[in-house]
Amino acid sequence: MTLAIQTSITELVNTLNEYNHQYYVLDEPTVPDAEYDRLLLSLKELEAANPGYILPNSPSQKVGGVALKAFTQVEHKLPMLSLDNAFNAGDMQAFDKRNVERLMDKQILTYCCEPKLDGLAVSLMYQDGLLVQAATRGDGKIGEDITENVKTIRCIPLQLRGELNKDYPSVLEARGEVFLPTDGFERLNQAQKAAGNKMFANPRNAAAGSLRQLDSKITAARGLAFYAYSIGYIEDAENLLSDSHYGRMVQLKQLGLPMNPEVAKVEGIDACLTYYQGIADKRNALSYEIDGVVFKIDSLPEQNKLGFVAKAPRWAIAHKFPAQEEMTILEEVEFQVGRTGAVTPVARLAPVFVGGVTVSNATLHNADEINRLGVKVGDSVVIRRAGDVIPQIVSVVLNRRPETAKEIRFPECCPVCSSDLEQIEGEAVIRCGAGLFCQAQLKESLKHFVSRKALNVDGLGDKLIDALVDKKMVKTPADLFRLDAFDVACMDRMGQKSAAKLIEALEKAKSTTLAKFVYGLGIREVGEATALNLALHFLTLDKIMQAKEESLLEVPDVGNIVAMHLNKFFAEAHNQAVITDLLALGINWPVIEPVASEDLVLADKTFVLTGTLNNLGRNDAKAKLQSLGAKVAGSVSAKTDCLVAGEKAGSKLTKAQSLGVTIWTEDDMLAFFAKHE
Ligand code: NAD
Repeated sequence: MTLAIQTSITELVNTLNEYNHQYYVLDEPTVPDAEYDRLLLSLKELEAANPGYILPNSPSQKVGGVALKAFTQVEHKLPMLSLDNAFNAGDMQAFDKRNVERLMDKQILTYCCEPKLDGLAVSLMYQDGLLVQAATRGDGKIGEDITENVKTIRCIPLQLRGELNKDYPSVLEARGEVFLPTDGFERLNQAQKAAGNKMFANPRNAAAGSLRQLDSKITAARGLAFYAYSIGYIEDAENLLSDSHYGRMVQLKQLGLPMNPEVAKVEGIDACLTYYQGIADKRNALSYEIDGVVFKIDSLPEQNKLGFVAKAPRWAIAHKFPAQEEMTILEEVEFQVGRTGAVTPVARLAPVFVGGVTVSNATLHNADEINRLGVKVGDSVVIRRAGDVIPQIVSVVLNRRPETAKEIRFPECCPVCSSDLEQIEGEAVIRCGAGLFCQAQLKESLKHFVSRKALNVDGLGDKLIDALVDKKMVKTPADLFRLDAFDVACMDRMGQKSAAKLIEALEKAKSTTLAKFVYGLGIREVGEATALNLALHFLTLDKIMQAKEESLLEVPDVGNIVAMHLNKFFAEAHNQAVITDLLALGINWPVIEPVASEDLVLADKTFVLTGTLNNLGRNDAKAKLQSLGAKVAGSVSAKTDCLVAGEKAGSKLTKAQSLGVTIWTEDDMLAFFAKHE
C-alpha cells in the first residue's frame, strides 16, 4: 500500500470522526448527510481494497458517537446497532439475494417494512411492567441515561398494559425512535429564530437536542413523539413473545407502546420495492420526517441465523430516499424586485441534485436572513429541498470558506429603476417605493392581475408580459385592454392566430367578480380570502374604496395593517385613475345581493379543505363556504369545526381524526351546498 493511500485513509477517518462528533455529540452537523455518506463510502472502498489498514478508530467499525459526560452512563445489555444502507433497487435486490443464499431453504422471504423515522434511537427498560430506565444509543455499547426526559414524552407509557408474566416478561427492553413531528419542528425553529438562538438543521438534530437536555422541563415543552420498532433485552420471556418481528410489534402495541400504523409485513423483494414506492409517494403527507424505509427479515429464528456484521445486523437494511440536503457553492447573489417592491436577494447556485430535482436558485429572503446565515459569495452552502417546499439555504460550511469569499452587499437603490430603497422600522424587507413606475413592479403587478385567481386571462404568460412592458406597449393594467391584435401579432413568438386569441381572452376576462377584481389589484396583504370578505361585506367597489378604517375593521380577516394598506392604496391618485380607466374599458361584475344573516348558516364555523376535490375547484369550494359565513383556515387545530377531505387526504385528515373534528367528504359538502343554494 502506498503512503498516499495511507494518508487518504487517515484523513478520511479524521474528517469523518470530526463530523460524527458534530452530529452525534453536539447535535450540530456542519455538512449534509449526503456528503458524510459519500466520504464514508470512499473510506469503506479504500478499506476493502486495503484490509491491512483499517484503523481501530475508523467510523466504519463503530456506531454513532459517545455518551455525554453530563449524563449518567448506561451500559446496554445488548448492543444498539446501526443499519446498513441501500440507495437503489439494485442494492435491495443484492440484500435479498444474500439473505436467500445464507438461509438456503427459502426463495421468498418475509420482510417487515417500516418507515425510517428521522429521529434518534432510544432504549426503554421495563421491569415488572414499570419504566425504570431510558437511554440513548450512544456508541452502541454505552448510552446516556435520559429517563427523566423520556418520562415527559406523553405517548411513552410509564406502566405497560396487561399482566406480568402473562402479557409481558419481568424484564422487557423496548427500542424505538424518538422524533419531533414536522409541525413541532417548524414551531421550535421559529421560536429559536425569534429568540435569536441557533436553528436546528433538521428534525433529527432537533429531536436529539431536545431529548439530551439536562432540564427535563425543556424536553417536555418540545412535543416529542415515539414509535417502537423492536424488542431488545428480555428476561423470563419463555413463550411470551412472538417469533415474528411483526408479531412482536403488535404485542408492543398491545402493551401500550405506540407502533407506526404504516408498518406492514410483505412477501418477497418485489413487494418490498412496491412498499418503498408507496411510502415515498406518501412521504409529504406524513406528519413526521422519514429518510427511507427499513426492511427486516420477519422471522426471529432467521434473523438469528443471519447474525451481525461490525456495526449492523445482516437481516435488516435501510433503503434511503434521495437526499433532501446537499452541499453546493453560492456563485452569485442577485436582487429581484417583486410586485410590492420588496427587494429579495436570490442565490445563484452551482447546480446540485437535491430532493429529486436539480436546484440552481434559492431565495435568501432578506438582509436579516443573510446576516443570520453569515453567508458570503463563494461559500459552500447546505441546500435543503423537502417535498414541494422551495429550496432553502440552511447553513454555511465555514471551514470550506475560500479566501476569495465576498461579502453580500445590499444595493443602495432599486436595481431595476434606481429609485431610493426604503425600510420600514421593524420590517425585515427593503422596498423600492416607486410603485408601477418601477418596471419590475409593473411586470409583477400585471402578472398578478391576469393570474388565474384574479382576472384569469388565458394565453398571457410571464414572458409576453415582460416583452409588452419592455416595448412600452403596456404601462398600466388598463393598457392590456387597449392592445391591438396587429401590434401583438408582430411580437416575437406570436402570430396572428395567437394574437387574436389573446385579444379574445382579454375581452372575456372583462366579465369578472368584484372579489377577483379587488384581489387582482394586488393591494398589499389583500389575498383572495380578504378580497372576497371585502366584496361580501361592502357589496360595491365604491364602498370598499371609500371605507374608513373603522368600517374596514368590521370585515373578517381585516386588521389594522390590512386596513392601512387598503386606505393607502385607494388614496393614491394613480391607482384611482387606473381603476376608473379599467371600468371605462368595460371591466364588469354581477351585482352582489346582500346576504340575509339567516343565510349565513356557517357563521362562526371554521373549515379546512384538504386533498383533491374532483367536482369543485379548491378556490370555488372555499368561496362558497365563505359566502355561507364560514371561515376557511389552512391548518387543522382544536378550533376547526369541519374538515372537508378530498381524495388522497394526508396528515390533515389524520390530525382531524385524532382531534375528533367532523369530517366531510366532497359529496357531503356538495349536498350541503345544494341544500343552501
Ligand atoms: P442510520 O440513522 O442510517 O440508521 C440506524 C438508525 O435508524 C437506528 O439507530 C434508529 O435510530 C433509526 N431507525 C429509524 N427507524 C427505524 C426502524 N424502523 N427500525 C430500526 N431503526 C430505525 O444510522 P446511524 O448510524 O444512526 O446514522 C447514520 C446517518 O447519520 C447517516 O444518514 C449519516 O449520513 C448521518 N450522519 C451524518 C453526519 C453529518 O455530519 N452530517 C455525521 C454522522 C452521521
